[in-house]
Amino acid sequence: MPRVVMKFGGTSVGDLDRIRNVAARVKREVAAGNEVAVVVSAMSGETNKLVDYCTSIAPVHDAREYDAVVASGEQVTAGLTAMAIQAEGVPARSWLGWQIAIRTDEVHGKARILSIDSEDLLSRMATGEVAVVAGFQGVAGRNRIATLGRGGSDTSAVALAAALGADRCDIYTDVDGVYTCDPRIVRAARKLNKITYEEMLEMASLGARVLQTRSVEMAMKNRVRLQVLSSFSDAPGTLVVDEDEIVEQEIVSGIAYSRDEAKITLVQVPDQPGVAARIFGPLAEHNINVDMIVQNVSEDGRSTDMTFTVGVEDCQRTVDLLQGLQGDLGFARVVPDEHVVKVSVIGVGMRSHAGVANSMFRALAENGINIQVISTSEIKISVLIADKYLELALRALHTAYGLDNT
Ligand code: ASP
Ligand code: MG
Repeated sequence: MPRVVMKFGGTSVGDLDRIRNVAARVKREVAAGNEVAVVVSAMSGETNKLVDYCTSIAPVHDAREYDAVVASGEQVTAGLTAMAIQAEGVPARSWLGWQIAIRTDEVHGKARILSIDSEDLLSRMATGEVAVVAGFQGVAGRNRIATLGRGGSDTSAVALAAALGADRCDIYTDVDGVYTCDPRIVRAARKLNKITYEEMLEMASLGARVLQTRSVEMAMKNRVRLQVLSSFSDAPGTLVVDEDEIVEQEIVSGIAYSRDEAKITLVQVPDQPGVAARIFGPLAEHNINVDMIVQNVSEDGRSTDMTFTVGVEDCQRTVDLLQGLQGDLGFARVVPDEHVVKVSVIGVGMRSHAGVANSMFRALAENGINIQVISTSEIKISVLIADKYLELALRALHTAYGLDNT
């Protein structure tokens, strides 16, 4: 029998009617002859509320207790969804992370799944019972509840699909697929029928918030066939697949952006061996992630400017830290700028085509948009620009790469 994992996000289980709608969809998959496991998120807004409770009661708190609290939203929807499926006349039961068990490491609040015991689930699914699994949670050492980081129920679903050897993992959400660009900004954005794992990974880590980044990594590693689709329509969604399944590969598949970065420039850094290590070492020790980095060759051989980006939430901390090191590092000034966005064009077709970067630079130049930092990888070109140009840049690039819906 084909085996399917169906994952429903917070808006898809946002109220009782929507949970009934989920149950009806599950019934259809069962009627079509599938063994079905369902993974649910908490009702939309619920996890935020629980997080607020934790930060309000004690700003600095025990992460294990945080997990005990925030994991509870999924317990509610798992039980309610199982009831709704039963009310459709289909046998179902709820499963919490520890009951399966989904074992994780001990990084509470952002735990990674280590293993899933799938035997019980499989034998009960074989009898026609739908397994309704609480997403976002697992059990860490010493039997403590652990959660997988915000958006983690995507990862629960993919991990379960891999453990069950599922034929499909369908991620139901409130958008009907993955788009060439954010349709709220670029009206001409198109839904993609297929996208490669690599591209989806870039899109997810750049802030296209359809899937948790970790879930895409896991799908890619385990070759889980993912589909992103809407629980509110019957339109087909976007398939996330291996590159060789895509017959006609576009050069650029999508354009993503992130408002989450801040730019920091160190002016007149002494140009000596070891400076980069002395700057970025302390940042790493303080868990500050650095993304783009540029350093110019110095003209006089004595000093140079160093520019890099960090998460906007880390900007002030980074400035304070560097200022504390000014005596040691010997730079003249540190200049932060939070009014930047990173815009990236993504496509595996870039590997075999020249001139992709140049089209980007030309389109931006024609619109008078200054590029502050550039970085590239095999399948991505990113630029940092002033945030006021974001919309203009996205629309111009979307047209320049022939992505507009016509
Ligand atoms: N409920 C959790 C969150 O809001 C997990 C999820 O929805 O994926 O982050
Ligand atoms: Mg989500």
